Amino acid sequence: MHGRVVRRQELTPSTVRIVLGGGDLDGLVMPDATDAYVNAAFPPVAASYAEVFEPGVVRESCPREEWPARRRYTVRSWDPAALELTLDFVVHADEGVASRWATNARAGDVLVFEGPGSGYRPSPDAAWHLLLGDESALPAIAASLEALRPGDRAVVRIVCDGPDHEIPLESRGDVDLAWLHRHGDERDESLLLAAVEALDFAAPGLAAGPPFGFVHGEADEIRGVRRHLLSERGLSRQDLSCSPYWRRTMTDEAWRQIKREYVAAMEADAAGV
Ligand SMILES: Cc1cc2nc3c(=O)[nH]c(=O)nc-3n(C[C@H](O)[C@H](O)[C@H](O)COP(=O)(O)OP(=O)(O)OC[C@H]3O[C@@H](n4cnc5c(N)ncnc54)[C@H](O)[C@@H]3O)c2cc1C
Repeated sequence: MHGRVVRRQELTPSTVRIVLGGGDLDGLVMPDATDAYVNAAFPPVAASYAEVFEPGVVRESCPREEWPARRRYTVRSWDPAALELTLDFVVHADEGVASRWATNARAGDVLVFEGPGSGYRPSPDAAWHLLLGDESALPAIAASLEALRPGDRAVVRIVCDGPDHEIPLESRGDVDLAWLHRHGDERDESLLLAAVEALDFAAPGLAAGPPFGFVHGEADEIRGVRRHLLSERGLSRQDLSCSPYWRRTMTDEAWRQIKREYVAAMEADAAGV
């Protein structure tokens, strides 16, 4: 599938919103989920194929150096009437194919993608919702908060660079939200874990039962949080949607090479619990 950039907006110094329209978005089938994601394809500058392409065909017919780089991005929102698909890209100081694309995107640029795939929507059966992550998980967290019903309770902790990196979030639910600002040193890697450790799960409104946890973001950060929730807070694996979206110091290509092994080791954490 593909769409063309209709609008580009700098939401914060580190987040660029891209709204796609046109292309073949009239054929998009959006799953009933708040973490739906597309697998975008960014061709190299010297690609010999057209701007609209089939990733599978390129893989079969072109040398490897012409294959597009693949990156996953959450659908922040889908407007089926206007046929507009909104994605929020973290633009980070490290070099990155997708970050660079979003930084330089202009109206009319094409984005080819596959999907959307998905897995999560806040369950009405959860006693409460625990939504944790960094800016890369913010689109899914924002969409999840918008899906809550009046009376639903959510505790939300989000890591970001500072107050001007915060994004207004809307919900009909009862939301306890805190932004965790990075210091720019090694303490940043445990900010999320420290915030979860400080939560009182016996507080009024939270004591009704274990939460359902949505925990996504940097691999090592979310792994520590997952381990804590399983071994110290009594959550079961079924109470968690948890996946490492990216890995510090690694491109997505390098990360995908070891991700399966990493996730297997992560799954084995707190195995006896
Ligand atoms: C299911 C899923 C949904 C996702 N949804 C989103 C989304 O909606 N928005 C979003 O921004 N990301 C999202 N991500 C994460 C995104 O796919 C990765 O961050 C990806 O690596 C970014 O690609 P890049 O080309 O910009 O950087 P890469 O080329 O992959 O990496 C270059 C360097 O940048 C670093 N880096 C990568 N991501 C970040 C980051 N977020 N912050 C700081 N440094 C980083 C890497 O560690 C590396 O050192 C999602 C990932 C998954 C698996």
